[in-house]
Amino acid sequence: MQIKETFSPEETFRFGQKLGEQAQPGEIYTLVGDLGTGKTVLTQGIASGLGITEPICSPTFTVVQVYEEGRMPLYHFDVYRIGDMEEMEEIGYEDYFYGQGLTMIEWANLIQEILPDCHREIRIEKDLEKGFDYRRIVISGGNI
Ligand code: ADP
Ligand code: MG
Repeated sequence: MQIKETFSPEETFRFGQKLGEQAQPGEIYTLVGDLGTGKTVLTQGIASGLGITEPICSPTFTVVQVYEEGRMPLYHFDVYRIGDMEEMEEIGYEDYFYGQGLTMIEWANLIQEILPDCHREIRIEKDLEKGFDYRRIVISGGNI
């Protein structure tokens, strides 16, 4: 388990960049945290660390957004609106999860049953006692 505390969006972005630089093809990162904790900021940092310069948008309405520009593809999922696993089949999720890119999944708890055991969970939490911009980023699973 790895814990990183940040005190600004920029710091979270830079931490994401490091994760992106270290990412290996085929890895799956799940992103857990309430709205506004920084899942997108961290994803933008990771994308930057992979060498992606185009803007990272929320894939809420498309379920998955693919970015091919970096040193490996980034498959950015937001499964918030997925109704059942058949929809994931139709999207062809296996091509991504077991592919040669980095898969990132927001709201991954909704697709627990098809999530490979070997994934890395990134949890982001606030702690208002430590300040409005404080975030605790806890990474577990995978090869950590
Ligand atoms: P999510 O995708 O989890 O809903 P976003 O990344 O879209 O959240 O937004 C996070 C918000 O919190 C941004 O407005 C960002 O500026 C702000 N913020 C404040 N402090 C931090 C921090 N330490 N890390 C990340 N974001 C922060
Ligand atoms: Mg978001």
